[in-house]
Amino acid sequence: MSELTGIGVSPGRVAGPVCRMAGPPALPASPVVVRSVGEALEAVAAELDRRAGAASGPAAEILQAQAMMAADPMLREEAERLAAEGLDAAHALDAAFARHRQALAELGGYFAERAADLDDLRNRAVAAALGLPMPGIPAPGRPFVLVAEDLSPADTATLDESVVAIVTEKGGPTSHTAILARARGIPAIVACAGALSLAEEELVSVDGAAGLLRTGLTPAEVASVQAAHREERARLRAGRGPGRTADGHPVPLMLNIGSAADLDFCADSGDSEGVGLFRTEFLFLDRRTEPSLEEQAAAYAEVFARCPKVVVRTLDAGTDKPLPFLGLPGEPNPALGIRGLRVDRVRPAVLDTQLEAIARAAETATADVWVMAPMVTTWQEAAAFAAAARAKGLRRVGVMVEVPAAALMADRLLEHVDFLSVGTNDLGQYAFAADRQHPGLADLLDPRQPALLRLVAECARAGAAAGKPVGVCGEAAGDPTLAPILVGLGVTSLSMSATSVPAVREALAGLTLEECRDLARAALG
Ligand code: PEP
Ligand code: MG
Repeated sequence: MSELTGIGVSPGRVAGPVCRMAGPPALPASPVVVRSVGEALEAVAAELDRRAGAASGPAAEILQAQAMMAADPMLREEAERLAAEGLDAAHALDAAFARHRQALAELGGYFAERAADLDDLRNRAVAAALGLPMPGIPAPGRPFVLVAEDLSPADTATLDESVVAIVTEKGGPTSHTAILARARGIPAIVACAGALSLAEEELVSVDGAAGLLRTGLTPAEVASVQAAHREERARLRAGRGPGRTADGHPVPLMLNIGSAADLDFCADSGDSEGVGLFRTEFLFLDRRTEPSLEEQAAAYAEVFARCPKVVVRTLDAGTDKPLPFLGLPGEPNPALGIRGLRVDRVRPAVLDTQLEAIARAAETATADVWVMAPMVTTWQEAAAFAAAARAKGLRRVGVMVEVPAAALMADRLLEHVDFLSVGTNDLGQYAFAADRQHPGLADLLDPRQPALLRLVAECARAGAAAGKPVGVCGEAAGDPTLAPILVGLGVTSLSMSATSVPAVREALAGLTLEECRDLARAALG
């Protein structure tokens, strides 16, 4: 038995066989033929069909459309002709896909946007021809521990319940891989050096709190770890009801979600008090055309119909969450550039449409709908956002505090908005000048850092003075050892992944408000 260590980012102790996510296949220098052109394309179409059958909603439709593209007779004829002229199957497929891609790109508009979809099919077909594992999230048809170099938000969004744990060689504690893993309740370790050299099918255990991976388990050990995991979940699920301290001080425990589908994973939270952060950009990550007002309104209405209260965050595009439909140019320092609310400087129509869609969905909803903007830096930005949202008829308007400048001016921001929500992930990144995705800077990104807590305290103080709520919706809120400290600082609500709620509820119930304040005083020092 040996051990690998990384940063534990989503708690839970589980076990299973390793399944690695393959990268795009390289073309071999000399011909390797495991499957013919036809066999490779048929294998790709069959695999996509199988996955479409197992999926539902838009994911199933996308997979079905991709399966049809793989079965396109023109593509097959072209590749078979090239093979007949002497190319091996992998090169023939590569060349045929390149020609189709070029043809689509030349047609422009919608067709040009579909050209990029062919890259994924090309990678799958070439891998099939070479006898290599299919790129993308594997689907072995049984539970597995997913091991990858890193995952894109789009990859993570397609994970299903057969993934028992995620282990990546790259990624930081507040990267979106980590956030989505937590949202799905999948134990995860990031920045785990050596993970990619684990053998396929090797039986391992993953401790997503300690960041520890053990190899060399027996099948009986896997079964016993899995049984203990199920028991622990059941124990935590047994706790229900609203968040409160031991002496009854209420602290609403809210959920962080990226779509209505995430609410399906929220049963474990035990009586959530609503959604405290609806990350709307996750709905549109792989879109190359702007979602229409109607489409957006329908997606928001789906969430509003299922929760008593929803805090919607307007699109937070940029850095590790690019939204291709915005067509934003590359930047040398994307985290410091046009992202979050700043997109409004160059694409004002996008925020206008989104606010209209939120207002339209809110009109008929029973949910109490609040709206907030990400990456606000000055009170002028807060005031402009509040005016734009109120002009659409939205009544409860707030901003996120993710930039130290905003935390230091929290009192001024609150002159213009109804509430603040502190995004400790970005606030940590910007306060410590430490890229939140950087695996080597985890100590700086630790939300226990007193400098970060002082910024949170500043916001809470301003909120108390103005009589307005100040919540935390960064990952710190879901940490059962930090939640009491945040409450002691004066934070009025906590929003987190559904799977974090039970442990936070338990931690708060064990301390009085005064004890939380004592902890906060000590932590600030
Ligand atoms: C944050 O920065 O803390 C936050 C909640 O926003 P996101 O993680 O989506 O950037
Ligand atoms: Mg943020």
